[in-house]
Amino acid sequence: MSNRYRCPFENLLILDFNTTCEQNNYDYPSEIIQMNVTVINIRDKMIREDQTFNRFVRPVINPVLSDYCVRLTGIDQNSINTADVFPVVYDQFVAWLREHNFQEKTFAFVCEDHQTIWLNAQYQFLLLDRSIPAIFRQWINITTVLQYLIPERNYDNLPGETFVNKASNFYNIEFIGNSHNAMDKSSFLAKLTKRILDDNNLVSVNRSLRCNVNSRRVPLNVDPNWRTTFQSAMLVFGRMLPLVPAVVYTYFTDDDYAKCQYCKNGPDVCLGVVHEQYPYEVYEQLVEPSVFASAARLDIDFNGEEEDEVEDEEDVNGQDDVNDEDDVDDEDDVDDKDDVNDEDKD
Ligand SMILES: [Zn+2]
Repeated sequence: MSNRYRCPFENLLILDFNTTCEQNNYDYPSEIIQMNVTVINIRDKMIREDQTFNRFVRPVINPVLSDYCVRLTGIDQNSINTADVFPVVYDQFVAWLREHNFQEKTFAFVCEDHQTIWLNAQYQFLLLDRSIPAIFRQWINITTVLQYLIPERNYDNLPGETFVNKASNFYNIEFIGNSHNAMDKSSFLAKLTKRILDDNNLVSVNRSLRCNVNSRRVPLNVDPNWRTTFQSAMLVFGRMLPLVPAVVYTYFTDDDYAKCQYCKNGPDVCLGVVHEQYPYEVYEQLVEPSVFASAARLDIDFNGEEEDEVEDEEDVNGQDDVNDEDDVDDEDDVDDKDDVNDEDKD
């Protein structure tokens, strides 16, 4: 056993995206422009650099990158112009999974935080009017893993402004490249994850997507400056996006693979639209329509009905393992202090 990592998967796929962006404006229809996956093979205890998946993606809504986005990510317009659009790249990714025999139940994604899948992937599939594939329904938030490993959970006091700085300092792992580029970020996260595994720490799934959390039942008072304030924008997106990230302590087993822990439905049924996911209070508070919401048609489906009190009661007293404590964490997850540091990550 000692030569095995404490990880219940055969491979970890370290995932990161870059998206289109505009300086000082979070109300923007962010499309994926780079997708990178770096592989850690658990049996070999190796980062498989020969198996890296890296693609540029051509955005459709805003095909021309802003100067800010080019500067931040280091991705140039030419690379984008010659790239395939997301549905094509995603099909290439699925083919790549098949080619390497990465079966969905035998790997887990590792992400820096919840934004990679909850925000970037979910939003990209909403733009395409497709439900987010089952493989994205769970992941390992490596920031959370690290936070638990810091002595006395003293993460905030680690030297460094961002997660990358803090992790780099804590483990003395040099960051090579541009910390806002998906390929460089993914490569660093792979080294970090390997180091955490090498120290014999457990690395397993700690987040999943589901269609509701208790915190959503409390009306959100929208910050009038949400478009330019990262933290406030994330709170608004937390209400607009159909699925929310939830803290979990187990990964999907065969029978429950990709099933929502809230409604118990599979990924094709649990779309987050049947559980009052578009609180009219949020849209009523917006002075101007949201570009983020309208590009993905998120603002036209809500019907403004009051939430069903009976159903809420059932949820609180439900026999499932969704308890209030989880939901407190869920709220923290969307409203995560650490994410402030990543204000301009894409
Ligand atoms: Zn659900």
